[in-house]
Amino acid sequence: MRNGHGYESMNASDKLTDRYKKQNPLTQYPQPPFPRQPQNRPGSVNKMEPEPDHGEKSYVGFGRLKDRKALVTGGDSGIGRAAAIAFAREGADVAINYLPSEEQNAQEVIKLIEAEGRKGIAIPGDIIEESFCNELVEKAVAELGGLDILVNNAGRQTAQKTIDELTTEQFDNTFKVNVYAPFWISKAALKHMSAGASIINTASVQSFDPSPNLLDYAQTKACNVAFTKALAQQVAEQGIRVNAVAPGPIWTPLQSSGGQPQDKIEKFGSTTALKRPGQPVELAAIYVLLASQEASYITGEVMGVTGGEMPY
Ligand code: NAD
Ligand code: MG
Repeated sequence: MRNGHGYESMNASDKLTDRYKKQNPLTQYPQPPFPRQPQNRPGSVNKMEPEPDHGEKSYVGFGRLKDRKALVTGGDSGIGRAAAIAFAREGADVAINYLPSEEQNAQEVIKLIEAEGRKGIAIPGDIIEESFCNELVEKAVAELGGLDILVNNAGRQTAQKTIDELTTEQFDNTFKVNVYAPFWISKAALKHMSAGASIINTASVQSFDPSPNLLDYAQTKACNVAFTKALAQQVAEQGIRVNAVAPGPIWTPLQSSGGQPQDKIEKFGSTTALKRPGQPVELAAIYVLLASQEASYITGEVMGVTGGEMPY
C-alpha cells in the first residue's frame, strides 16, 4: 500500500519479507572485508558501504505497540533508527532525538514513521546539557500526548590507543553523553510514565569485555548496566520496567566515524562466532519485545545481540 510519502507501508496484512525466511545467519548479511570509510563524527548512514539495513524495506510490524508513545535518542541512524522504524511499524507514535548535523538522516526516519500513518516528531539537540535533556522530554510528551517507551540509545565512542592519548575533555564528553544524559532523560521521563511503561538502555558487550582502545567508552557502558539494574528495582513498584540491550559489533556510523580505527573497520565483526557485524535491523525485535507488554515479566535484564560475542 503506497501513500503520499512514497514509502511502502508494511504491516501484518502485507506479506513477510525475505528476512523472515529460514536461512543461514552467517551469510544473511555482508561479511568482512569492508572498505575503509572514515567519516567525521557523528557520521551518516548514507556514506556507509555496504549500506546498512535498518528495516526500511525488511521489518514487518504486527501491531504489538499499538498507540504507544515512544522517545528514541540517537533515532536518526544505526540501532536507534532500526528501533524507531520498528516501533512505528508496530503501531507507535515516535519522537526521535539526534544532533542538528544529522537532520538529513532524521528526516528519512520521520518519513518512514509517517508512512505508517503514525506521528513522527523530530527533536534535534545536544544531550550533553541537562537543560536540553529536560526540554527534550517536555517536547516529546507535549507532541506525543504522553510517554510510554523511552530508549536511551544515543552514544559516543572514540577509540584511543593509550591512556595518555585519552584527554580529560573526551573522557568528560563520553561520560556526559553515555551516562549523564540517560540519567537526566530518564529522570524527566519517569515523571510522565505510568504502569506498563518501559525504559530500554543501549549498553554493549564493552560493558563486560572492555577493549583496550575503548577505556572511557567501556566504563560508560558498564555504568549503563548498573543504572538499568538499580533503576529497574526502584520503579518496579510503579509497574515500570527497565532493561538494557548489549549489542556486539553492529554496522553503524558510530564505528566508522572514530569509534574504531579504519583497519578494524576492514575486518569489523570477523571475530564473532557468526564472523560478520550485525545489522541494525537484527536488534529491532529485541527493542520491540522489551517495549511491549509481551515482556511483562522482564525487568532489570541485559539482553545480548552479539553474533556469539567475542571482544572485537
Ligand atoms: P549511531 O552513530 O548510528 O548512533 C548514535 C547516535 O547518538 C547518533 O546518531 C547521534 O544522534 C547520537 N548522539 C551522539 N552524541 C550525541 C549528543 N551529544 N547529543 C545528542 N545525540 C547524540 O551508532 P549506533 O552504533 O547505532 O549507536 C547507538 C548505541 O549503540 C550507542 O549507545 C552505542 O554505544 C551502542 N552500541 C553500538 C555498538 C556498535 O557496534 N555499533 C555496539 C554496542 C553498543
Ligand atoms: Mg547518527
